[in-house]
Amino acid sequence: MSSFRIAVIPGDGIGPEVTNAACAVLEQIGRKFDHQFDFSELLAGGSAIDATGDALPAATLAACKNSDSVLLGAVGGPKWDDLPGNRRPERALLDLRGGLNLYANLRPAILFEALSVASPLKAEIVDKGIDIMIVRELTGGLYFGERGRRAGGNLEDGTPMGVEAYDTEAYSEVEIERIVRVGFDMAMGRSKKLTCVDKANILESSRLWREVANKISSEYPEVALDFMYVDNASMQLVRRPNDFDVIVTTNMFGDIISDEAGMITGSIGMLPSASLGKPGTPGMYEPVHGSAPDIAGMDMANPLAAILSAAMMLRWSLSLTREADAIEKAVTDVIASGWRTKDIAYGQDDKVIGTKEMTAKVIASIV
Ligand code: NAD
Repeated sequence: MSSFRIAVIPGDGIGPEVTNAACAVLEQIGRKFDHQFDFSELLAGGSAIDATGDALPAATLAACKNSDSVLLGAVGGPKWDDLPGNRRPERALLDLRGGLNLYANLRPAILFEALSVASPLKAEIVDKGIDIMIVRELTGGLYFGERGRRAGGNLEDGTPMGVEAYDTEAYSEVEIERIVRVGFDMAMGRSKKLTCVDKANILESSRLWREVANKISSEYPEVALDFMYVDNASMQLVRRPNDFDVIVTTNMFGDIISDEAGMITGSIGMLPSASLGKPGTPGMYEPVHGSAPDIAGMDMANPLAAILSAAMMLRWSLSLTREADAIEKAVTDVIASGWRTKDIAYGQDDKVIGTKEMTAKVIASIV
């Protein structure tokens, strides 16, 4: 029997409900495949502020570093909305990413065939579902570059331009290489197609991305690499989403197109995510949605994004591929059988159930 130490951060709002669901599913995987998951529950976010005054207590970060992987629910809520930015619950997410050095964000955009009606796109575009993996660089680029304000110059006629604000997009070869490698590795495990999204017609940093990606591609001869400008990619994502498989891109472009891709799936309650650092270090897995305070504690939260995040954890941090497949198949089967939480119920034949019952259905499908 193999055993794994999982740091669980339930967080706020529906966070505890969906992490409970994911842990219950992992326990079933443990029973079926003979693994032991040792969960340690940790504080972060608003509940941590209430208990300790700190959104990310040092003990939480230390325990996460010492784990095999981290599973997070969601943080934040109206109770803490008036706190200054650097003391808000969401600060915990940034500090976890920084503290664990998580530089690669994996955001799958999956639309299950049985849920294609959820997509705002036309039926003929999405009737076979959608399955795109977006790999976003998470710790560099525009969001971390040099920024500031300075006195602006003058217009041609001498009018002063006032204060000027600037942000800088800077990427080193090493930063590009390690994220592009994640893209190639993902592509190897999928359909061996990688699209690098950039703005190389304008940005020097994008031209370096292309050079590095081309250099690394010689190590992955089976993967077909292509490049696409971000403006074109954002159009093609809604026109022919199924032509994409794995996309790798910068922090800012990834921020935007992963939300676009998530939106075309139509169901925020179904979207998992992962943030990864150096191979061999703990990754962090969490649903894309927030703490949904409007439905917290009402047994209405869709647990599937958190459950699918647990499947990603098995696949990418614990190398348990069969086990990850088993969870994903169980979710597909439950959805195909018509079971829905309220957020994904669209038709008369849908059988609407709550968080706990949906979790029980997934567990029962892992046999
Ligand atoms: P949200 O994702 O929490 O909710 C948006 C809408 O989607 C709500 O109507 C909610 O009920 C619904 N929803 C979300 N997840 C659902 C699920 N699993 N099942 C059913 N319905 C679901 O976004 P928001 O309302 O903008 O933010 C609420 C709080 O969450 C804020 O404090 C925000 O800062 C925080 N937040 C946290 C994270 C995170 O922890 N990673 C991410 C986004 C927002």
